[in-house]
Amino acid sequence: METLKFEEMNLSPEICRAVADMGFEEATPIQSQAISVIMEGKDVIGQSQTGTGKTAAFGIPCIEMIDPEDRRLQAVILCPTRELAIQVSEEFRKLLKYKDSIRVVPIYGGQPIDRQISALKKGAQVIIGTPGRVMDHMKRRTLKMETVKTVILDEADEMLDMGFREDIETILIKIPPERQTILFSATLSKEILDITKRFLTEPEYIKVIRKELTVPNIDQIYFDVKEKTKLDALTRLMDMYNPKLSIVFCNTKKRVDDVVELLQGRGYFAEGLHGDLKQPQRDVVMKKFRNGTIEILVATDVAARGIDVDDIDMVINYDIPQDEEYYVHRIGRTGRAGRSGKAFTFCVGKEIYKLRDIMKYTKTKIIQQKLPTLSDIEEAKTNNFIDKVKETIEEGHLTKYINIVESMLEDDFVAMDIAAALMKLHLADFSGDALDAIDDINFDGCDAYGDSGEKTVRLFINAGKKHKIRTKDVLGAIAGETGISGKVIGSIDIYDDYTFVDVPSEYAKDVIKGMKNNKIKGKKINIEIAKKTKGKGKK
Ligand code: ADP
Ligand code: MG
Repeated sequence: METLKFEEMNLSPEICRAVADMGFEEATPIQSQAISVIMEGKDVIGQSQTGTGKTAAFGIPCIEMIDPEDRRLQAVILCPTRELAIQVSEEFRKLLKYKDSIRVVPIYGGQPIDRQISALKKGAQVIIGTPGRVMDHMKRRTLKMETVKTVILDEADEMLDMGFREDIETILIKIPPERQTILFSATLSKEILDITKRFLTEPEYIKVIRKELTVPNIDQIYFDVKEKTKLDALTRLMDMYNPKLSIVFCNTKKRVDDVVELLQGRGYFAEGLHGDLKQPQRDVVMKKFRNGTIEILVATDVAARGIDVDDIDMVINYDIPQDEEYYVHRIGRTGRAGRSGKAFTFCVGKEIYKLRDIMKYTKTKIIQQKLPTLSDIEEAKTNNFIDKVKETIEEGHLTKYINIVESMLEDDFVAMDIAAALMKLHLADFSGDALDAIDDINFDGCDAYGDSGEKTVRLFINAGKKHKIRTKDVLGAIAGETGISGKVIGSIDIYDDYTFVDVPSEYAKDVIKGMKNNKIKGKKINIEIAKKTKGKGKK
């Protein structure tokens, strides 16, 4: 698929800078094809799937064609819903960072019409709105269409699904026919084609065609995460699977930099690869990656394109890729030459739809899994260590160390204690001092049984009603800090000064670790396993 760099597209320096600030490294396929054609003034029908960057595909040329000296209305963008109108306005605001004299006014239902009228009176060169509200303003003559040169119908399929056909037609009839008309849609139904026949003049049809691609035979797994918990999820996977070489994919350069910084801050050997790096810098990073000095490479799609490292154990899609084809390229980095590999994808809320598109396109299954808990990780680490110990025993050559142990035994130490202490020295760094204490607590002793019959642990938080804490604050804080869904949390009892929370015992450590020294509603809290005597106070 041919893609272009924004610098190759004859755009103004202001737009190029704005796009760079947005972290876009290169144009997506639909952008690569549509921007120049729209700038030539042609009518365009653009078709590509959701999430492929259609907004900037029309937004960039639309902005470039605005005459900043002419304060009258020049472009109208119609969107199906208020949310989409807001999203498009937001993207325009970013694109206009260095062209801020251009006035864009969003108009959608649900917002006081008076406010919109006064915003329009101040002069708007571009309006972004829903068809109903735009018609409203046309009727009131607060919007005059005579000077409009460009009309864009965004997400046309959705607009028709929502029953806006008549409104769209009414609006289009009122705009001078010399105008340029542009329509973008993920799908093209007969109804849309009817509209294009009636209202577009010799349109150029741009469709992003995709090739069939085969997906390697590897485990493809996704995790339902929150934006805020992605880093924690990432480090858990790293700790759990301990890959020798892994690549973490992000959608923008800025994300790459952020993730690298956070990973390095937590002591991982990670470095980033993206388009801002000069060739010599890239070579240095790649050399370190090949020889294992760096274990985690954090990269954008574009930067990763030239990578020729074969034995990557794990690919993580920190962001869901913009394009299904990127997904295939990304995960194709692992499981090469018959090796086993893992591909993990982080999915935040509604992104599940994008994931379904990817599954449909690649004809494979991406299976949901729960993130490993801290106990899972600890177990994995312990098993790993025990294996190493066994290997070391088999290898022999231990005389020097046997002598040391013998001298300790003579001092009346017991072999079992010595071995246990060595284990602790080696493994304790993982769980940390604070958590070690939890190990010594017998969860069974303080277990209650939840409604579903599963074991739960009662936790104590030193904050309550007096601190204006409500159930949802507790749930929100736990979910936000640990990524554990509110659904699995059991009952929450809030008293004046403190709160009790029941959590399934498998999550208890995670919750304590995540919440320790954190805040709920601005108050720094302490959390610990509830002592049995507590919890009988009055609510
Ligand atoms: P569509 O309208 O095709 O569904 P959007 O225009 O909403 O897609 O874009 C989806 C996401 O991709 C947005 O977050 C947008 O900022 C981002 N995006 C758009 N173009 C690029 C690009 N060239 N590089 C990286 N991200 C991009
Ligand atoms: Mg869109």
